[in-house]
Amino acid sequence: MSAATPPGAPVSDPVSDPVSGSASDSASTAASTPGVLPRLRSTLEGVPAYVAGKPAAPAPGLTPYKASSNENPYPPLPSVLEAVARAAADLNRYPDFAATAMTTAIAERFGVPRECLATGTGSVGLLAQLVQITCDPGDEVVLPWRSFEAYPITVGLAGARAVPVPLTAEARHDLPAMAAAITDRTRLVMLCSPNNPTGPALRREELERFLDEVPRDVLVVLDEAYREFVRDPEVPDGLAVREGRANVVVLRTFSKAYGLAGLRVGYAVAHPQVAAALRKAATPFGVSGVAQAAVVSSLQPEAARELDERVEALVAERARVLAGLRAQGWAVPDADGNFVWLPAGADSSRVAARLGERGLVVRPYGDDGVRVTVAEPEANDRLLEVAGELRAGSA
Ligand SMILES: *Cc1c(COP(=O)(O)O)cnc(C)c1O
Repeated sequence: MSAATPPGAPVSDPVSDPVSGSASDSASTAASTPGVLPRLRSTLEGVPAYVAGKPAAPAPGLTPYKASSNENPYPPLPSVLEAVARAAADLNRYPDFAATAMTTAIAERFGVPRECLATGTGSVGLLAQLVQITCDPGDEVVLPWRSFEAYPITVGLAGARAVPVPLTAEARHDLPAMAAAITDRTRLVMLCSPNNPTGPALRREELERFLDEVPRDVLVVLDEAYREFVRDPEVPDGLAVREGRANVVVLRTFSKAYGLAGLRVGYAVAHPQVAAALRKAATPFGVSGVAQAAVVSSLQPEAARELDERVEALVAERARVLAGLRAQGWAVPDADGNFVWLPAGADSSRVAARLGERGLVVRPYGDDGVRVTVAEPEANDRLLEVAGELRAGSA
């Protein structure tokens, strides 16, 4: 699979448009030279802007669905909403700086020592902290491509250099090529398992062989944002893989399986010294009290059981969608997360447009393909219906 827009490549649409000068509206601007703007870091010019999934758009006579951001279609549990409402009563206060209750709940639920944990404003927040604690300007970050678009953005913003390694024809990480891309300047390696947006997760043997090859002083990030949806027994639990490997960090999030995307909270499991550095690089009080309360509530046994059932239902829907699409002739790669990948190539924007017209908003990626989130059963039915028509040439 080729990268349509290699990360780090200059793009025509810069991150921020120049602020339009309006020198005439105030006397306070009289001293400024017309047309001269504050000098920003040149590295910004090569950083693409994050493209968020579009909201559901109305379609005549059809219920619209948003399948463009890999969100959980289930609304928050009543018990979680109650915890959030209670926490909201303290909004005039800063949250617990050390996120004590949340950290304890995560440590107990996943069996990790507290000193190995760092929490952050979503795993995207932790990602930025990881680059901050490892990379000086010009240092290299090896990453799979196509993968999560936040990777090249985060790396570029830090002034580090993204080294994208194309996926294999099966839309999997090319781990031997990634190992070969590591140089003296490499400080970080990103792994995305399951890979967003293509779907496959890394298997135990290939992953362990790769980790054995990576120099011990290079940090490897195993981004497991979709770990809870994995059912393939050959795919290891990153937390087990990490044991005995001081240079491996596991990233997890409450945005997907736990359905808390709107609260921005995730965690990293790392060697205590790496975790301490991550905490140092965190935005102070970044994880709100409301988010902390929602996580604690979500990890209570009863809530956790209900959330697991929802994940199980989504996994069953994923199997149904995957089988249906493959039966139609779509070459969909293994889908280990809560989404499927239609490798539509140059047809991607047309496929996305046809689905959008039928009330299913999805996420196209240049000329590579289209990612569709496994959502409500009716949304999944709609996908199968329109995808079938597209294969038959009638849509
Ligand atoms: C959704 C996603 C995340 C999670 O982001 P949050 O900031 O935690 O919401 C991280 N990594 C990947 C690959 C994702 O797809």
